[in-house]
Formats: sequence, C-alpha cells, structure tokens
Amino acid sequence: MNKIIYLDAAASYQKDETVIEAEVDFLRNHYANSGRGICSRAAWVDDMLNFMRRRVASFMNTNAENIIFTHGTTDSINQIVRMLNLTDESVVAVSDLDHHSTRLPFVMSGAGIVVCPLDNNYDIDFNKIPYADVVVITAMSNVLGAVQNVAEIIRCAREKNPNVIAVVDAAQFVVHEKIDVAEWGADFVCWSAHKIGADTGLGIMYMKNPSRFAPVQFGGGMVNKIVADEIIFNNVPDVFEAGTLPLTQIAGLGAAIDKLEENRPNLDLLKYMYDELKEMSRVRILTARDAALLSFVIDGMHVLDFGAMVGVRGVCVRVGNMCASWIHKLMGIDASIRISVGSYNTKEQVQQVIKYIKDIVK
Ligand code: PLP
Repeated sequence: MNKIIYLDAAASYQKDETVIEAEVDFLRNHYANSGRGICSRAAWVDDMLNFMRRRVASFMNTNAENIIFTHGTTDSINQIVRMLNLTDESVVAVSDLDHHSTRLPFVMSGAGIVVCPLDNNYDIDFNKIPYADVVVITAMSNVLGAVQNVAEIIRCAREKNPNVIAVVDAAQFVVHEKIDVAEWGADFVCWSAHKIGADTGLGIMYMKNPSRFAPVQFGGGMVNKIVADEIIFNNVPDVFEAGTLPLTQIAGLGAAIDKLEENRPNLDLLKYMYDELKEMSRVRILTARDAALLSFVIDGMHVLDFGAMVGVRGVCVRVGNMCASWIHKLMGIDASIRISVGSYNTKEQVQQVIKYIKDIVK
C-alpha cells in the first residue's frame, strides 16, 4: 500500500489480495450475466451467485432465501422505507447514533419521527424505547464505535408494540462482531460489502419475512413471465433484485468474508493510540477505550486543518461530521476526527502516526 498509512477502514476497508484476485478471475475467465443464459459461463455465474448467497446467509446465521443483494446500506434502507408504505400516521423511532443514510429516508417518507433517548454513555437506552411502528437501530455508530444491545432494544420495542418492524443498520457492527439475525429477531438487517473489504456498489439486506413484502423496484430478473396483462413475478429472493446485479463485487464477497472471519481488525492498536492521545492536554477523546473506533477533537484546531496536516504526511483519517450530524450535535460539536483500523494495519504505523500527531498538536 505504498507509503500511505490508511487509518480509515470505517469509511471503506482496503481490499485483501484474495478479494482482488477473485474479482479479476471473474472478469478475466468467467464473466457473463446471471439468470439469463444456459451457456457454461452463465451457469458458472449462477452457481457463483448461489454460493455467495449461501455464504452470506451462514455468515449472518440465516437462510439464503432471506438474503437480498442491493447496492449498499443506503440503497437497502431506501428500499425498506418504500416497502413499508409509511404514512404521516406511522411512527418511526430512530436514535441520535444514526448515520444520515439510516435516518433520512425515514424522515423524507413523511412518517412521524420519535427519537430513542441515549444514556450517559451515548448508548441507546432500551428502558426508554418509545412506542413505534418501526424501530431503527444503528447497531454500532460510525462515530462512537460501541456495540448496541440490539436484541434487548428489539425486545423492549416489541413490549410496547408486538408488531413493530425492527430495522438494523449493521454497516459498522458487521466489521467487528458476528451478526446473528436469529438472536436479534430483527425484520431487516443491512450492511455494505465495502466496509468488510469487499467492493463498493454491493449491499446485503436480510429480510426475516420476504413474502410479507412487495418489491419496490421493477425490471428484468424479477419477473418470471408476462402473459397478456398478467405479470408473474419470480420467487424470493430474485423478486427483490430487479436488474443486473453487481456481479464482480459479489464474486469478491466470499473472499472478504473469509478474510474477516479469520482476521478481524486488531482493536489493541486503537487502545494503544487512546492511551497515548489521552496524555495530550489539547486532545478530547470522544470514544471509549474499548470502542471499535477512536474519535476525538483537538482544542483550538479545526478538524480540516488536522486532516490536511496528517494528510501531507501520507496519513488517511476521516475528519468532518461523518454523515452523523445528530450525535455530533448531542455532544455539542460540529465535527470530529476518526481513526479506524483494518486487519492490515500495524503497530509501527500507529506509532508513526502518534509521532506525527504529537508534532502537529504539541
Ligand atoms: N450506516 C453506517 C453506520 C455507516 O457507517 C455507513 C457508511 O459510512 C452507512 C450507513 C452508509 O453506507 P453506504 O454508503 O455504503 O450505503
């Protein structure tokens, strides 16, 4: 990865060679469309797609029929909002941990929004979950990196309304923890492939009861046949996957999951940085020592200035509002600096970055 020190896995994870090789192999040796042919290449692609769907299903402890390929978490959430047919009488419970992608589609639907309170540690306070028709749960904030008790939040939401639809954003959670949809009992769980080291443009949407919902996107691949005025749709999950799928990205997905399961990011690197930064009087750390991310602000220094100063030294970190305005507002700040690691980062790299930060911040 040349001289760059990349500490921004939470925005998008660097790709392992096995992922790149799987994609190149597909492009070079097997490329064809899926579900549309009977030639050997088309059959290879269909087998690959079925294999990857089963691989994702076992990764999340569910069945292949419950896995829908989308274009990312943002796309999944937008589709879910349309599937739910919300009205201005619907009540959607969100939390200030939400990413813009997770809350805005619900806000724009015109449904009523209620905010689940956070406790003193900025975790969702499951004892105070309000009544709602839909509860939206960010399983791990992309600013604070703390695991939320999704199963308990859903249990409490169902105590208030047994029919509540639980939608989980697992875009950050999936990187660090095993997703067990059976244990959570969620109706929908979404994550993006690029966050775990697969490619951009591919999302995974788990649906507990796909047959309860109608598709919101129409086109090729989701229709079995059209006879006169009658449209016969395909079965689940194909009916939710209109148009050509991001097949190259799907071809790399299995390798990314294998790599992640074998080697999750080493969070001791963040603890090490935490201990060093804690000693610096101008640094205010926003995350817990054992969090999956390290976010902070620096007194008297704009986050963009910090980003530019480490940037010229070849260090990539994320600065800004992280598409998570609500948690920043709650903490009384506009923006922050975020450091995140992948399994490819080393102790030497974080030591080097600490030296740079000490040099810049003084
Ligand atoms: N939710 C969370 C918690 C995220 O961190 C992100 C990406 O930053 C998203 C949703 C949106 O993911 P994507 O841009 O891949 O759709």
